[in-house]
Amino acid sequence: MPELPEVEALAAFLRENAVGHVLARADLAAVQAIKTFDPPLSALGGLEITGAGRHGKFLDLDVSGLHLVVHLARAGWLHWRENLPTAPPKPGKGPLALRVHLDDGNGFDLTEQGTRKGLAVYVVRSPAEVPGIARLGPDALQIDREDFARLMAGRSGQLKGALTDQTLVSGIGNAYSDEILHAARLSPFKMADKLTEDELVRLFDAVRATLTDALQRQAGQRAATMKGEKRSGLQVHARTGLPCPVCGDTVREVSFADTSLQYCPTCQTGGKPLADRRMSKLLR
Ligand SMILES: [Zn+2]
Repeated sequence: MPELPEVEALAAFLRENAVGHVLARADLAAVQAIKTFDPPLSALGGLEITGAGRHGKFLDLDVSGLHLVVHLARAGWLHWRENLPTAPPKPGKGPLALRVHLDDGNGFDLTEQGTRKGLAVYVVRSPAEVPGIARLGPDALQIDREDFARLMAGRSGQLKGALTDQTLVSGIGNAYSDEILHAARLSPFKMADKLTEDELVRLFDAVRATLTDALQRQAGQRAATMKGEKRSGLQVHARTGLPCPVCGDTVREVSFADTSLQYCPTCQTGGKPLADRRMSKLLR
């Protein structure tokens, strides 16, 4: 899933390649992707793209005061296309959700792999009209240490859930929360409101360092190469069974109904494996 660094890099890419161009036409290929009807998608046609930015994990294209807001969900992505075909795409077939044509014949496709569709497109007059944006907590790269400590102290629940809750702090998802907790040497199951002063400092510094580092690696990447760049920088996320780059211990996993987390026991949990209900069910 694209998180803060990837969405920020996509926004930067669009600032360089799309801003200043007229949005000629937007073709909807996946009817369920669009979540708004007023203004209609067609209202964007013929308007100049004047900006591209990010709210948490939402991408925001400013089209002369109207906003095309996109949430890429779990398996969505943006593909820059040169010389797009002019014929409208066939709806409901394949991964294409939305195709945006610019006045110079280039443009981009929003696509989503898999059968569970979550990619969401909004056309609004203000980004705050998107419910998911209105609910966002402070941005993970903007929040200062005092506010971060206050939010964590007020949260009863595990760190993994706290870091990925967009209403608490926005921009961090499943991958970077694993990476942040590994960098901070904290268990994903530790309670957010039970952190010591030292642990809070470590966690805050890890948020900054992990996201800044990922952003620097993504900067200047073409949209097509960002995913590979993200994967190459990961220490524990999606690395179950591989050695931890810090200590050499084996990276372990905890599975949930539709997601999983990865961690290093030596670095994060005093060497103890965390309970994994699915694994123990399988072994019973
Ligand atoms: Zn380790």
